[in-house]
This record gives sequence, structure tokens and C-alpha cells, in this order.
Amino acid sequence: LTSREFHPSDTIVEVGDLKIGEGHFVMMAGPCSIEDLDQIMECARIAKEGGATVLRGGAFKPRTSPYAFQGLEEEGLKYIRQAADHYDMKVITEVMDEANLPLVCQYADILQIGARNMQNFKLLQAVGKTGMPVALKRGISGTIDEWLNAAEYIANQGNMKIIFVERGIRTYETATRNTFDLSAIPVIKKLSHFPIIADPSHGVGVWDYVPSMAIAGVAAGADGLIVEIHPNPAEAWSDGQQSLNEKNYLNMMEQVNIMNDAM
Ligand code: PEP
Ligand code: MN
Repeated sequence: LTSREFHPSDTIVEVGDLKIGEGHFVMMAGPCSIEDLDQIMECARIAKEGGATVLRGGAFKPRTSPYAFQGLEEEGLKYIRQAADHYDMKVITEVMDEANLPLVCQYADILQIGARNMQNFKLLQAVGKTGMPVALKRGISGTIDEWLNAAEYIANQGNMKIIFVERGIRTYETATRNTFDLSAIPVIKKLSHFPIIADPSHGVGVWDYVPSMAIAGVAAGADGLIVEIHPNPAEAWSDGQQSLNEKNYLNMMEQVNIMNDAM
């Protein structure tokens, strides 16, 4: 169901009035974590200013350490919904487990499956059953074949609203948080009919490198970008080192738009 052989033409994923995979690229931006209403409101304002139509933000956070901030949960979902509605944006947020899926579905427009859950097959089947748009991140050490199979778990529940998200893979390199696999974009485009977007923030993990990889993602044919922004990255509760401040985000978007126009 996921392969190009099964479905030769591109699948366009509709999120309300927004279409992903239609040709023009879709911008998603927001903080790693929702921290409070003011923070997510300010992020939404900045995101929108740069042309984003989808607001990202985690309320359930898959943190490496159990002692790190785990997310505001339902309170955070309420805040991001409020901020997105205020700026007429869609919401993408992570769902970490089946238990919280009904709750997340009440607030989200796109369900994000995090890298750590790419092969949580029961969760994939459950999001498949909802029929909601699903952004499926590539696993930390996921091969493209494993990623395509993960999408198949969603699709075979009758859900053809899948968006692949390349977010970097683990390699021996330590200068960047992950190795951003740009080549996955044309590979997925060839093997699957579903759209793919690039997440250069997690891909490189260092904010200075995010703009160049965002531009490269668009050049590689991504249907969209998802990036982390924060009004004050130094104070962010998670992933501040890879978050763009307002100025850097707006500068990046100028470049991204030039690249997109050139495509
Ligand atoms: C995130 O989007 O903040 C996140 C945790 O991403 P990933 O699952 O790709 O690590
Ligand atoms: Mn993050």
C-alpha cells in the first residue's frame, strides 16, 4: 500500500484545507516542548510570520532521561490548540502511546510518531485506525525499508494519510547530533507515493547548521519542513541548542523561499 508500484501517482495528504504533497512546500515550526501559554503563543506568532501553516510542539516528550522534563500533557495540548486557532494554523504534536491517543486526537490535526516509536507496531496500528494524518518519523537507526514497513502498518488499517519525516539517523559521527540523511528524500519519493518532509533540527541538532540543511531539504524535493524555534533558545526546556530564534528563523525562511521558487 505504501509503495509506488501499488499507487503510481503522488498521494496528497489533506489536513483540513491544507494539502501536503501537492507541489508547493508546507512549513511547520514551533518549539520542541510546549512550556506555557505565553511561550507557545509567541512561537505561533513567529512561526506564522515566517510562513508556517502548521504549529509544532510536544506535550508528551520522549526524553532520554526519566528525570528530564516529560511534557505538560493535556495542559500543553490545550495551549497549543489555543495558539494555533488564534493564528489560524494546524497542530502537529507527538503521541507516545496508545493510552493517550484518544486525548491527543482531540487536540491535534496531525499525529506525530516519534523516532523512538517508529517500530511500535501496536501504536502504528492504533494511529492507522484513527484515520488522522500521521507524520511518521524515521527511527534513530531505522533503515528505509524498515521505515516503509512501519508506514505499511498504518496504511493497512485503512489510513492513507501518511507523511514521512526524515530526522537524521545515528552514525559514528559526533559533530552533529544525528546524520541528516538528505538522500532519504529522493529515495522515499521514488519508492513511495506518500509525501516526505525534512526535520533538519533533529537532523543536525545544532541551530547554526539548520538553515543550510533546510534549504538542502527543499532542494532535494521535500514536500515540507518541520523546524524547532523558540523565543529564547537558551532558556528552552528541551532542544534549545537546535532551536532557531526569531531572527534566525526569519532569515532562514527567506533563503528557503528563494530555493522553493527556484524549484
Ligand atoms: C521532537 O520532534 O521533538 C522529537 C522528539 O523528535 P524525534 O522523535 O525525531 O527525536
Ligand atoms: Mn525536539
